[in-house]
Amino acid sequence: MTAPDAEGLAQIRESVRALCSRFPGEYWRALDRERAYPTEFVQALTEAGFLAALIPEEFGGSGLTMRAAAAIMEEIQASGCNGAACHAQMYTMGTVLRHGSAEQKARYLPGIAKGSLRLQAFGVTEPTSGTDTLSLRTTAVRDGDDYVVNGQKIWTSRAEYSDLMLLLARTTPRDQAARRTEGLSVFLVNMRAVTGLTIRPIRTMMNHATTEVFFDNMRVPADSLVGEEGKGFRYILSGMNAERILIAAECIGDAKWFIEKATAYAKERSVFGRPIGQNQGVQFPIARAYAQMRAAELMVHEAATLYESGRDCGAEANMAKLLAADASWAAADMCVQTHGGFGFAEDFDIERKFRETRLYSVAPISTNLILSYVAEHVLGLPRSY
Ligand SMILES: Cc1cc2nc3c(=O)[nH]c(=O)nc-3n(C[C@H](O)[C@H](O)[C@H](O)COP(=O)(O)OP(=O)(O)OC[C@H]3O[C@@H](n4cnc5c(N)ncnc54)[C@H](O)[C@@H]3O)c2cc1C
Repeated sequence: MTAPDAEGLAQIRESVRALCSRFPGEYWRALDRERAYPTEFVQALTEAGFLAALIPEEFGGSGLTMRAAAAIMEEIQASGCNGAACHAQMYTMGTVLRHGSAEQKARYLPGIAKGSLRLQAFGVTEPTSGTDTLSLRTTAVRDGDDYVVNGQKIWTSRAEYSDLMLLLARTTPRDQAARRTEGLSVFLVNMRAVTGLTIRPIRTMMNHATTEVFFDNMRVPADSLVGEEGKGFRYILSGMNAERILIAAECIGDAKWFIEKATAYAKERSVFGRPIGQNQGVQFPIARAYAQMRAAELMVHEAATLYESGRDCGAEANMAKLLAADASWAAADMCVQTHGGFGFAEDFDIERKFRETRLYSVAPISTNLILSYVAEHVLGLPRSY
């Protein structure tokens, strides 16, 4: 693993900024109108090696640290771009890296690092179980050399633009599992090589390429199983800290973008014969959003540093996600208010970023569930659900 020093991190940030400058607001606005996927942007990030940041060099990745990966995601958002189109590639591969067999790693990771194999789809959430992952109903039943999968996922983002899907399914009925958290298994499904898979796009308030996915006797080879059968819930949980930290970093990037836009506008827009930013009623919300973002940023750094040192960072990763999502949403709201009517005009990109950043208080984990985590696991309060 290469741990870049402060100068190295600054260079990474600079390179991401330079790449993102090739994808200005007009690019994202046109895609947003059509709800189209940013193929060229994802291609450019892949070619530059940014999406392979966390894949070790021995598998063709950049072998960077979590702080470097977080800096990449933050800069993408701070440049006005949208990393949601591809962020899952960075963290879902961690499940294969940590729990996959040597054969699976050799087969998949170099292709993922190069971009010839896209691992963008992560099939966990289901329509009936929602956040209660242990109640999911999709089953995978062993039949000879295959598993036969039946069921449905929802909000499986980027499934149309991915070759592989990391899928969580039940392999042992809930009442027969040795423990509450056992009986679920993770599969790395090659979606281009199966039948019985239907993907239906869901149009959402922002351009997110999300879908619902149906499995109708979908056969996957038994060697698609990642790690041990029945241990999948633990494997998915073990990847969640990375996911929380990277999404939190994206929120910090969004907050920075909104704060920069609002500050520039407050200086330049003149009403009643003076810049609106001269009024404390306009300054204070910008200053507050800045302070809130900086505090959240510290927690993101703390979580990433703990993650890199191999120490437990569950509490910090969750709190980073909570605080950063709150900060980006507060900054988004402030930015619209600072711009008055122009905050609603497409050409300013604010309404688009406002819609995009709203997601992170709900997904990949909602604010309430993080608060429950902190209450139970940090403060020792009784489990509430
Ligand atoms: C655009 C988008 C993309 C997504 N991408 C993916 C993806 O790629 N892969 C994937 O697997 N999932 C994905 N998700 C799903 C996402 O992770 C879930 O939407 C999220 O975890 C919340 O689950 P839910 O929607 O089922 O809400 P529910 O679980 O139905 O909860 C609804 C509300 O009730 C609250 N709530 C529920 N239980 C409690 C409780 N015990 N205490 C307090 N509050 C509670 C929640 O906080 C939430 O606000 C995506 C979602 C969206 C909207």
